[in-house]
Amino acid sequence: SPHIVWFRQDLRLHDQPALLAAAEAGPVIPVYILDDDTPGDWRMGGAQRWWLHHSLTSLAKDLEGLGSRLVLRRGSAVDVLEALIEETGAETIHAIRHYEPWWRKAEEALGDRLCLHDGNHLARPELVTTGSGKPFRIYSAFWKGLQGHVPPEHPLDPPKTLSAPTKWPKSETLNDWDLLPTKPDWATGFDADWVPGEAAARERMADFVEKAAAYDTARNMPSEEGSSRLSPHLHFGEVSARAVWHALDRTAETETFRKELAWRDFTDGVVMAIPDYADRNGRDAFDKMPWRKGAEAKKDLKAWQTGRTGYPIVDAGMRQLWATGWMHNRVRMITASFLIKHLLIDWREGERWFWDCLIDADYGNNSVNWQWVAGTGIDANMFGRIMAPLSQSEKFDAGDYIREWVPELKGLSDAAIHDPDEAGCRPKDYPAKIIGHREGRERALAAGKSVRG
Ligand code: FAD
Repeated sequence: SPHIVWFRQDLRLHDQPALLAAAEAGPVIPVYILDDDTPGDWRMGGAQRWWLHHSLTSLAKDLEGLGSRLVLRRGSAVDVLEALIEETGAETIHAIRHYEPWWRKAEEALGDRLCLHDGNHLARPELVTTGSGKPFRIYSAFWKGLQGHVPPEHPLDPPKTLSAPTKWPKSETLNDWDLLPTKPDWATGFDADWVPGEAAARERMADFVEKAAAYDTARNMPSEEGSSRLSPHLHFGEVSARAVWHALDRTAETETFRKELAWRDFTDGVVMAIPDYADRNGRDAFDKMPWRKGAEAKKDLKAWQTGRTGYPIVDAGMRQLWATGWMHNRVRMITASFLIKHLLIDWREGERWFWDCLIDADYGNNSVNWQWVAGTGIDANMFGRIMAPLSQSEKFDAGDYIREWVPELKGLSDAAIHDPDEAGCRPKDYPAKIIGHREGRERALAAGKSVRG
């Protein structure tokens, strides 16, 4: 009898242990289920649906190359898989383990019909814990702990062929899923920057290996392509983290990058321990935080979302996000900090916006990073640490980055572009600063104090 391979965020053939195990066991039925029920409020956002459409197209083609096909179904994953077992007489479901709380529930519900494999992390999060079995709160301690567990073996090759079941179950068609935006098509800018799918992911990985040694210095400059831009490929599992790990020489030069890559593992360790980390403060004291709500706050939130805060570096980041589905890491920190501290708006509002706009939106990475910037999380970062957007902008030489994303400011000099208000040369079509830096900072500090007190 056939074996089902349940694809989720592991849309690849290389280093895909679930696929390999099924291929060795007999005929294979590869399945992808679009499940908008099980994740509840965390169903896939708009930008990711664009990515998913193209990534599934690519996976289906690659599976055809092995003599197989991809069966598409919609609905609650557990129900769909149970129905498929009934329909096909499949013996087992093979899948790679995932740590989103809804996937863990679904995995539990499937019980021993499901055979789980490790493949999404450098090391299984359960293994990298403190002496007493708790997840690490501090990243540097986690990194040390990881060293004993990084996969020593080389990533797995794809199966050479896949044997087909005697009868294929019915499949829906991708076009019926309406994953691509139409009216309006806000994703036109995505096409210019991104090619979803495994082949493109492997190409990007190979390109990055060539320039990995420069990462340490280049990654902080938002106008440069200094980071790998592998995040959406890694989120959708088009390339495995351990394949990327093994593609790099293990030298001091690549250590900064490997440390960033391991952040993915760290964040899943956090959500493994605290499944609702995306919805509640890591430290309860912040439940009393006097976040701004009302109409004024709503207006400010909108200005932040649309890149019209009057802070060029913030606006450039938010516009890059909207246009391309991605934002540079340094600028993610600046924009997030600005929303939470200067505008005193609940971090969860920003987290939601990112979830819908990011092509790499990831439950663990998004929630842990938002709470880290907010200082509300289980780690050691404090709310009172407030980033100064203007000096950040100058320090990371964001002039060219601003010129690219805020065309109203194109003509301004390097000296004026970070703060056109102050320089007295703000163009009419660019907004004044929504709040002064000092004013925002003081309001945030007072609010932070009220919580501690
Ligand atoms: P590189 O610098 O080349 O890093 C390589 C890979 O390591 C990344 O692709 C990513 O998988 C991982 N990585 C790097 N930095 C981090 C980090 N701080 N936390 C977790 N993983 C990391 N990343 C996401 O993948 N999804 C998110 O939803 C997400 N939301 C974020 C929200 C905020 C407020 C902040 C500050 C950061 C967020 N990040 C998120 C982390 C980081 O910004 C992105 O992973 C990175 O910018 C992706 O670009 P890159 O692939 O070029 O990264």
